[in-house]
Amino acid sequence: MTSLGEDLLATVNKLQDLVFNTIGNDSLDLPQIVVVGSQSSGKSSVLENIVGRDFLPRGSGIVTRRPLILQLINVPSGRQDKPEGDEIHVPHTAASVAGQNEWAEFHHLPGRRFDDFASVKQEIDAETARIAGSNKGINRQPINLKIFSPHVLNLTLVDLPGLTKVPIGDQPSDIEKQTRTLILEYIAKPNSIILAVSPANVDLVNSEALKLARQVDPMGRRTIGVLTKLDLMDHGTNAMDILSGRVYPLKLGFIGMINRSQQDIQSSKSLSEALRAEAEFFQHHPAYRNMANRCGTQFLAKTLNTTLMTHIRDRLPDIKARLNTLMGQTQQELASYGNKQFSGKEHRGSLILQLMTRFASSFISSIDGTSSEISTKELCGGARIYYIFNSVFGNSLETIDPTHNLTVSDIRTAIRNSTGPRPSLFVPELAFDLLVKPQIKMLEAPSQRCVELVYEELIKICHTCGSQELLRFPRLQGKLIEVVSDLLRERLGPCSGYVESLISIQRAYINTNHPNFLGAAAAMSSIIQNRQDQERKAVLAEEKRKREKRRMKELGINGTPEETEEQHTEPKTQNMSIRGQSSKGNRSMSPHHGRLAENGITSTLNGAETNPQAGFGSGNMSRDSFLNYFFGKDGGVQSQGPLPHAPQSQNKHPSHTAESSIGQSIRRAELRSPMARPEDYAVLPELGGDIPSMPNENPDAALSDREMLETELIRRLISSYFNIVRETIADQVPKAIMHLLVNHSKEVVQNRLVSELYKEDLFGDLLYEDDSIKAEREKCERLLETYKEAAKIVGEVL
Ligand code: GDP
Ligand code: MG
Repeated sequence: MTSLGEDLLATVNKLQDLVFNTIGNDSLDLPQIVVVGSQSSGKSSVLENIVGRDFLPRGSGIVTRRPLILQLINVPSGRQDKPEGDEIHVPHTAASVAGQNEWAEFHHLPGRRFDDFASVKQEIDAETARIAGSNKGINRQPINLKIFSPHVLNLTLVDLPGLTKVPIGDQPSDIEKQTRTLILEYIAKPNSIILAVSPANVDLVNSEALKLARQVDPMGRRTIGVLTKLDLMDHGTNAMDILSGRVYPLKLGFIGMINRSQQDIQSSKSLSEALRAEAEFFQHHPAYRNMANRCGTQFLAKTLNTTLMTHIRDRLPDIKARLNTLMGQTQQELASYGNKQFSGKEHRGSLILQLMTRFASSFISSIDGTSSEISTKELCGGARIYYIFNSVFGNSLETIDPTHNLTVSDIRTAIRNSTGPRPSLFVPELAFDLLVKPQIKMLEAPSQRCVELVYEELIKICHTCGSQELLRFPRLQGKLIEVVSDLLRERLGPCSGYVESLISIQRAYINTNHPNFLGAAAAMSSIIQNRQDQERKAVLAEEKRKREKRRMKELGINGTPEETEEQHTEPKTQNMSIRGQSSKGNRSMSPHHGRLAENGITSTLNGAETNPQAGFGSGNMSRDSFLNYFFGKDGGVQSQGPLPHAPQSQNKHPSHTAESSIGQSIRRAELRSPMARPEDYAVLPELGGDIPSMPNENPDAALSDREMLETELIRRLISSYFNIVRETIADQVPKAIMHLLVNHSKEVVQNRLVSELYKEDLFGDLLYEDDSIKAEREKCERLLETYKEAAKIVGEVL
């Protein structure tokens, strides 16, 4: 045994103690020696010889019934002895009584020192019986025993129950299989060294030990063959063939041994005596004499040490790598708890500044969507804001029906009220103004809700943008959130005020000149179009009904079908193409205007007039609004068309594109013919046929066709105008929120945090550390220290 080997083993035990005891599992997976063999082959005896102590229960029956994990720990001798290298046995004291520096400890009895090895044996027996019962049962739960001595090498040894074939006592019928599995579990670990014990007085071909070892170590690299009971071989036979490796190949070879016989045990033959006798046996045996130095307990111990040494050398790179991984992980975890050194005053300030900056940039990047911790599970940050703008706000605006709360009577009343004493020529336009303003107000609630939602989202964001390190300082985190929340709340007022203004602005001036506004003429034409469509539908339905009727008749009387009916509708179909033509993009006013006049819409409209006599020179047209043209004058175009049917405002939202192109052309007409002043009409014949009767009537009761037209017209104008405002609001509100709330907060957050929190007298409180995190960090630090120490030990060995 070289001193290097001793160092190496000391190292292993040190490592094992360091790591095993700190993290509670065998991360280093250090080598251990496992004894396997059939029942009564002498396994416990071999172990006992290696340890040099008489403490293991042995005997002819099944004695070892639980795995025994035996850790030998070398401690400095009280007599200033150097720890022994080659000599592993202690000849000085009586076999069953430990010396003053020797003791044993069980894992299941922490803190209790066994100075007397006879009682160790008793405790093993008792503990075996406690778990495995007293009637030969076997249990896989190991007994952990540590032996401290200046006279042992640092080794971990495992004694296992022997293999048996026939179940006895409480043993289950599959005892053999169970034991086999248990043994395999221990020897399968690639870093265990297998002591395969076979008795020399049984033919080696029957060796269960070698059979098992071969299963997990087929090349025989980590198996040491131990041949016991050489003294019991038949006279005239010897085991030279086996010991020289000619019978069974094992890289580490076979070692012959002689343990104490049952009789030796009964006569209390001491271990030292037995070892001496063993040595003597080999030295004087005619066959083994020449190889006596390669036989016996001492040589086995030497071999074990060398083997372990090589084995550990091989394992060290792995152990080192493992340690490095553990260190890396621990370092990372430690880093997440933050740096400990912040006690210096300047240091505290820069730490606070650093955490603040990180918080602010995390807040900003969450909004910008550049955060590294973007969730893939749910929308967050900036994407949520986008979602609020587009889906939530957009939809809530979209679902507003611009006229749903306006009853016919509301509109009528508005028309009548706005009429005052004046001629009703203007009525729809004035009433429109009166009616559309409250409708625009409907856009305010969703707009304000949008502001609130974004505000809430920003608050949420600021709650989630703390780093792991910040968790360590709960008070600082709380303050950061508080300051940002204050900032956001401050901005809420101006932002919602601005949004309110946006709506008020829209209500302040109703711009009927807006390029997308439908305009009266187009609205009218769309109404007519609708009516005609309905009329046509009705006619077609009637025709269909008639045809059906006829067909039924024909089926009955076998007549010939008529085809003429369809042609009757032709002229009507042509009449109805006005809107289509207008929407083809001809935006110049005059050709359009002419066409409108020629195409009989105006005549249709005029036909609806209560006073068809009302005259209005076509020459004045350029100075008058279209409304007047439609409602007040007969415009020189004589009433020809049939009276339109009562409007059924099914189509409250006429197609917008068609509307706008019509609106466009109408608007130009209106630009050139600005709203007529009342005096222009003062001399004109009155439409006032309705006026005297109006105040006394129930407004709903007797709506003239013209009134219904007007109502429908107003509805359409309101819808059209409302759509324009809605579009503007849908566009403006998000921009305002972004500017006044989101971007502003982003811009000032850092400065605000600094000015609110970067105050010397606050530092102490802000950097109050969370206790549990502090404890975690300290634990982590200790662990890292341990790993570093272990790594240092490993590094020294290499
Ligand atoms: P285990 O069941 O494999 O642990 O075997 P033990 O160590 O309990 O030994 C079984 C029996 O064999 C005991 O009575 C030992 O005294 C006896 N024995 C073990 N080795 C030898 C040996 O080398 N020579 C002789 N004569 N007896 C031995
Ligand atoms: Mg045993």
